[in-house]
Amino acid sequence: MMAGIVIDESRCVGCGLCVKTCPQGAIEIKDKKAHVGDGCIACGMCLDSCKLGAISRTQEKGGEDLDSWKGILVAAEAYEGKLHSVTLELLCKAKELQCDSKCGISAFLMGKDVEKLAQELINHGADTVYLCQDESLAYPTEEPWADALTSVIEKARPEILLFGATEFGRSLAPRVAARLRTGLTADCTVLQIDKETGLLQQTRPAFGGNLMATIVCPNHRPQMATVRPGVFPMGQGEMRQGTVVRLPVPALSGRVQVESAQPAPESKTIADAQIIVAVGRGIGSQKNMQYAYELARLLGGQVGASRPLVDAGWAQYPMQVGQTGKTVAPKLYIACGISGAIQHMAGIGGAETIVAINTDPDAPIFQSAHYAIVGDCVEVLKEMIAQLQK
Ligand SMILES: Cc1cc2nc3c(=O)[nH]c(=O)nc-3n(C[C@H](O)[C@H](O)[C@H](O)COP(=O)(O)OP(=O)(O)OC[C@H]3O[C@@H](n4cnc5c(N)ncnc54)[C@H](O)[C@@H]3O)c2cc1C
Repeated sequence: MMAGIVIDESRCVGCGLCVKTCPQGAIEIKDKKAHVGDGCIACGMCLDSCKLGAISRTQEKGGEDLDSWKGILVAAEAYEGKLHSVTLELLCKAKELQCDSKCGISAFLMGKDVEKLAQELINHGADTVYLCQDESLAYPTEEPWADALTSVIEKARPEILLFGATEFGRSLAPRVAARLRTGLTADCTVLQIDKETGLLQQTRPAFGGNLMATIVCPNHRPQMATVRPGVFPMGQGEMRQGTVVRLPVPALSGRVQVESAQPAPESKTIADAQIIVAVGRGIGSQKNMQYAYELARLLGGQVGASRPLVDAGWAQYPMQVGQTGKTVAPKLYIACGISGAIQHMAGIGGAETIVAINTDPDAPIFQSAHYAIVGDCVEVLKEMIAQLQK
């Protein structure tokens, strides 16, 4: 039997409060008692609505012993002999979560020439590294990676499984979740352990960023989340001892075979940039973008853009900053003609210093900016360029 919602008829008075809270319209009142219909997805929204405690959740019978799942596993990523920054950020977060749940931390790493990175994972918090290294594993592909990771999870039984919301992580995580028949929360911005239930609270923007949703996975394991690069700090590593468990090399029989790979031009752009000159609709024309490019060049930075510029074809998608673009964490973010919509700001929470240039003194971006310049961004850009050229 699946986990579900049950009504204790001896307590129910048919007040109908639960009917109003059910987003699925799955509860109705019949003969002065609440009845849960087939539309129920056991989301639990109704539980708190009943003041008489007549609604409860059934546990999944014949299912897993949830207590047998322990610890946190980070799905590591490495490219060209280097760990992806998000892997180290996730390990840092895992250590913080571990303080609450007192469990072990492990990492899964698969690829070519990755053995030397196992110690770095240990230094950043992993107690155990599940390592699969082979010449044939030069290019990550979802199917063999998902198969290998799933079999590690089935044996190691981590309670929590974290992925970077990188292009590969976003593609791998749902495949693993489907194989394990568990839930997955994408693009989390906050992860914490609920002190009462011990569940992982996974918070992410919802409804176009207008509210934050906190999602839990009470009935299935592992509890799975992806987190974008730059959302959590990386923390310092320290010399530690850990265990490396070597895994058998899987047969690469997936539907995708990668023959060769070339770094995308975007790999040198905003995700890792220390200085970003970001351009919004206030720049006025595609021609004016040249001033942003020139300032970025003089500062040794990169050019980013708000979504309308990408939609207009003035900038490419890899340059987009925000909720549906990249999350960035530069030392300096110069926002030129950007209003500061919540979806844009979702991408720059990690910026150390924000300089905003806008003609509107009431533009929302000024609430987050460290330095505010009220004026025409094209003129200000020209002046900055002139000063730097001097
Ligand atoms: C689900 C969803 C996801 C989204 N994801 C993203 C995302 O990832 N990234 C993103 O950026 N947006 C995203 N958006 C769009 C977002 O809501 C805003 O519409 C967008 O960020 C606005 O871009 P903007 O600031 O460039 O333009 P506008 O909001 O039009 O602002 C232009 C600003 O320029 C100023 N200005 C005008 N002329 C000048 C001048 N000469 N000099 C200086 N300032 C001037 C104006 O005062 C204004 O503040 C998303 C929206 C939704 C619904």
